Amino acid sequence: MAYLGNPGNTIEALRKYNFNFQKRFGQNFLIDANILEKIIRSAEVRKDDFVLEIGPGIGTMTQYLCESAGRVAAVEIDRNLIPILEDTLKEYDNAEIICGDILKLDLDAFVREKNEGKPIKIVANLPYYITTPIVMGILESGIPVESMTIMVQKEVAGRMQARPGSKEYGALSLAVQYYAEPKVVANVPPNCFMPRPNVGSAVIRLVRRQAPPVNVEDERLMFSIIRASFNQRRKTLANGLKNNGGFSLSREQIKESILALGVPENIRGETLSLEQFAELSNKIKCFSEE
Ligand code: SAM
Repeated sequence: MAYLGNPGNTIEALRKYNFNFQKRFGQNFLIDANILEKIIRSAEVRKDDFVLEIGPGIGTMTQYLCESAGRVAAVEIDRNLIPILEDTLKEYDNAEIICGDILKLDLDAFVREKNEGKPIKIVANLPYYITTPIVMGILESGIPVESMTIMVQKEVAGRMQARPGSKEYGALSLAVQYYAEPKVVANVPPNCFMPRPNVGSAVIRLVRRQAPPVNVEDERLMFSIIRASFNQRRKTLANGLKNNGGFSLSREQIKESILALGVPENIRGETLSLEQFAELSNKIKCFSEE
């Protein structure tokens, strides 16, 4: 079987099966061998790895993964792609094709069953319309995932690794950086896909942290504070907290919590680091227990 990662072989496979792209599934297939090789290299896939691929499409990246990994499971929602995958992957005895919706799969049970609960690697050219639920669902669930090397919209990759004070910095940056160390490994232009997406893309690698980088007593409280601070971006942190009834804090308590960070009272949430949000959340928790 010839590699699919070029325009000619991709068109041939699509024609053979009379395949029509489904826009609603975010189908943009990779047709650039250099990018595919770069993804596999960056993912550091080894022969003893179990890799989960989300959305294999016609199996373009799956072929590369099967050659580098021990075992590969590929979860694809579009039934029409299953016969194509069975054909394009027929030479690999380490590939398993699963027809289903990744958001409905019990990943915890899946990792226990397929890899005895040992950490897996995720490698995927993600369907962009569900990037955040997929990534956050996996990070928050605590499923043993060593790393995720994923193609996402360029702007989303920028938000995931943004630092305090920048335009892209927000709740997604803080959530991703709490659970993982993000690093953009490649920028990918639209002409590397068929059909071409309307947006630029980037490959980002998220390596899961062994332990949280900050000391926080109540994660849920911290993330609700973070959301409240970024909900009203142009307002001060104090107003963001005050307008969110969920914390039931007095004006004085809000002021005291902010000043305890050693920052001005009128600071905006978008300049606070993860450490500062953790500290703020621990302080607010003290008030709620008084
Ligand atoms: N991996 C292929 C490639 O790189 O050429 C295809 C990537 S394409 C951007 C995204 C793939 O995810 C499509 O094949 C699409 O059908 C599939 N997909 C979309 N939503 C999905 C879901 N909820 N669960 C599993 N697969 C999904």
